Amino acid sequence: QAKAAGRNIFRFFDEAMHAQLVERRHLLALLRGALERDELRLHYQPQIDLHTGTVIGAEALIRWQHPELGMVSPARFIPIAEESGLIVPIGTWVMREACRQAKAWQDAGLPHFVVAVNLSAVQFRRPDFCQTVANTLADTGLPPGCLELELTESLLINDADGVLETVRQLKALGLQLSIDDFGTGYSSLAYLKRFDVDKLKIDQSFVRDMDRDADSAALVLAIVQMAHSLGLKTIAEGVEHDHLAAVLRGLNCDEAQGYHFARPMPAADIEGWLRSAVATRMGR
Ligand code: C2E
Ligand code: MG
Ligand code: MG
Ligand code: MG
Repeated sequence: QAKAAGRNIFRFFDEAMHAQLVERRHLLALLRGALERDELRLHYQPQIDLHTGTVIGAEALIRWQHPELGMVSPARFIPIAEESGLIVPIGTWVMREACRQAKAWQDAGLPHFVVAVNLSAVQFRRPDFCQTVANTLADTGLPPGCLELELTESLLINDADGVLETVRQLKALGLQLSIDDFGTGYSSLAYLKRFDVDKLKIDQSFVRDMDRDADSAALVLAIVQMAHSLGLKTIAEGVEHDHLAAVLRGLNCDEAQGYHFARPMPAADIEGWLRSAVATRMGR
């Protein structure tokens, strides 16, 4: 009987894995034409300077609106795009669209608005990646200092030599680099010494629990102090309540983003939001 149960468990896993495979293959087939069919959009989530309460920029977050599937979350389709290599054309489109939009905002009177773009390791490891970034900046006319690229810890740790050279070239272009989801990847901090990054994005898992859990608050404080002593800035992700913003300000965290300030929104909604945000001095 135990054997039969074991077989059933295996069959169960088999079927679940098969279903997952079929669903991934289906998504991949639909994703292949998504760019051409104009189904991809960028939403933007404002980032706030915690000390002055002003808006300093926005993170571009990709959205896939499929006519039948509806809105597909990036958590679902980015891994598929990475595995298939589709992330390369998609990522190039994201960067170009984000830079174009940021330039348009600057031309409309937002002089120092920085746009942050998420990068996949697959894009980053392409030999022509830096050239793509340089071309994008040149074509859109966005000042390099107004583009921030979000890297991940795992990207910096694998294949450190090629990565080191790429990071050097990106910094030479004059753009900003941040580390996304900081604290959730490998615990080695050695790479902070090797790589010339500008900002740590403190992962939302630490931020969310801060007011209930002393350990999370201690970690956030430690990250902020370490960052500052290395000359880096910090931004807290996932700030959902005003008391979290107050605690972060007390811990001397520089910047924040999260539902408390604004949800990610279409570019067209940003200007209206900015007007109301400036009027109410967001975050103070
Ligand atoms: P991420 O870069 O860490 O982005 C933060 C995620 O947290 C976003 O989810 C954002 O909508 C969400 N978020 C923001 N504020 C709050 C908050 O207060 N509470 C909570 N619970 N969540 C908040 P989203 O847009 O679903 O993106 C998920 C992930 O997908 C991103 O995590 C990023 O890793 C990836 N991603 C998004 N756009 C791109 C892209 O253009 N390229 C690549 N390679 N990855 C992307
Ligand atoms: Mg990000
Ligand atoms: Mg993050
Ligand atoms: Mg992430």
